[in-house]
Amino acid sequence: MKYIVVTGGVMSGLGKGITAASIGRLLVDMGYKVVPIKIDPYINIDAGTMNPFQHGEVYVLKDGTEVDLDLGHYERFIGEELTGDHNITTGKIYRCVIDKERKGDYLGQTVQIIPHVTDEIKRWIRRVANNSGADICLVEIGGTVGDIEGMPFLEAVRQMHNEEREEDFALVHVTLVPLDAGGEQKTKPTQHSVKELRELGLHPDVIVGRCKERLKDGTKRKISLFCDVPVEAVISNEDAGDIYEVPLIFKREKLDEYLLNKLKLEVREKSGKWDGIVEKLRSLEEEVTIAIVGKYVDVRDAYLSIKEALKHGGIYAGCRVNYVWVDSEDLESVSDFEFEADGILVPGGFGLRGAEGKIRAIEYARENNIPFLGICFGFQLAVIEFARHVVGLEGATSSELVEDSGESVHRVIDLLPEQRQIEEKGGTMRLGDIEVTIKPDTMAYRLYGREKIYERHRHRYEVNPEYIPVIEENGLVFSAYSDGGRRMEIAELPEHRFFFATQFHPEFKSRPYNPSPPFVGFVSAALRYKRDCDGC
Ligand code: GLN
Repeated sequence: MKYIVVTGGVMSGLGKGITAASIGRLLVDMGYKVVPIKIDPYINIDAGTMNPFQHGEVYVLKDGTEVDLDLGHYERFIGEELTGDHNITTGKIYRCVIDKERKGDYLGQTVQIIPHVTDEIKRWIRRVANNSGADICLVEIGGTVGDIEGMPFLEAVRQMHNEEREEDFALVHVTLVPLDAGGEQKTKPTQHSVKELRELGLHPDVIVGRCKERLKDGTKRKISLFCDVPVEAVISNEDAGDIYEVPLIFKREKLDEYLLNKLKLEVREKSGKWDGIVEKLRSLEEEVTIAIVGKYVDVRDAYLSIKEALKHGGIYAGCRVNYVWVDSEDLESVSDFEFEADGILVPGGFGLRGAEGKIRAIEYARENNIPFLGICFGFQLAVIEFARHVVGLEGATSSELVEDSGESVHRVIDLLPEQRQIEEKGGTMRLGDIEVTIKPDTMAYRLYGREKIYERHRHRYEVNPEYIPVIEENGLVFSAYSDGGRRMEIAELPEHRFFFATQFHPEFKSRPYNPSPPFVGFVSAALRYKRDCDGC
């Protein structure tokens, strides 16, 4: 097994995840099977309870594990489906160690960070690597070198470096190369962070310099000299127009050849699959604008996978996708509004705040025949909007949005009876890949082209079965279901240009070379709408 470990220096938010995912892609394009592991040194067991305001989106894996959005980059760039095993947190490691201690596995020893915690980290990495059938295991350590939380992981990696053969281990360190007021590329932060790494007993094999502009030869030479790496191992990672360009930048920098050399691997095949995607992306001439109506608009990363899925949809529909962000709370306080957009998307969400604004946006899309895509909460609110304004169920709502005072409102979105009991014990979400059945002769079937699909879920509430008949009689079609027909999964309006909403999150399964059907349908409809209206 070959290991490539990616660490970060200077500061967070450098795009270390994209760097690591791009390295993974380079190796895949040369014929290697890669297994990524993301280490998040926080104490949470997973990202399920974390606020997207602080962390960006919570990404959901097929086994239902809720993880950091970097795992999404890995799935999209590398093309493998991951599970909770591919995300190590301090919480998970400590839980293992403490469970063992309680069972008496440590035979009365004092349980310590070295060796017990570091052993557990190494064991986890090696187990996942060896069970994956991959050739190369890519380990990204979250955070920045020097963070207290990251220390046990860096120490574990240091030990692994000693235990593995030299040709089986490479360390890639990602740092920042800022420009000073005169526009000069500064290497001091890189020097300091490499020094910090060396104090921990680690020496980088490759240094990736994140910079606004391409690293100059002089800058590379300076980093090479001060940080003790060959000049070919200093890699420029300048700002790219699109993150999908990063693997191509690395190819230009010959990082692929350098790493293979270091790991004593041959090129197995050269695939141009990724280059093809980037070429398509570059050649798109038409554009559409999508309004994303949400609560977390301040943090763009809160909807990262949706943006990515729109981009994938655009590659296949033949247009570049621009976004405007609309804060749903703003829509609640104005009497009248218009959208300057070719499509309206209401993403997932939780809670009352901004929900009425989202309902207004959906009503606007429905009444003005503007392409609409609703996801999860967006699906539930679309059902509520339809129940209120078309079916005439005044005050129709979701149990999530009303106090449980027993008042007799139309809860068209509700917990199923058996969930109510679980909810009393603290609640659970319906998470991960679940089989969904699509009905024939529907938009859903036309888009997916098959009856059985597996999509990722993250929700608690459901369309209330009591209201399904009256809603369908009025024209909203539930075109897909799960759980033997008890849970509704897709809603669509046949008379509308494109009005489509899913209880699941199709964005998590969208890939650049395998786009999500609802997104292709939505972006295509937005493009048609734009063309139709150009003469209006
Ligand atoms: N809040 C809704 C539920 O729990 C929708 C969740 C979501 O959009 N991810 O069912």
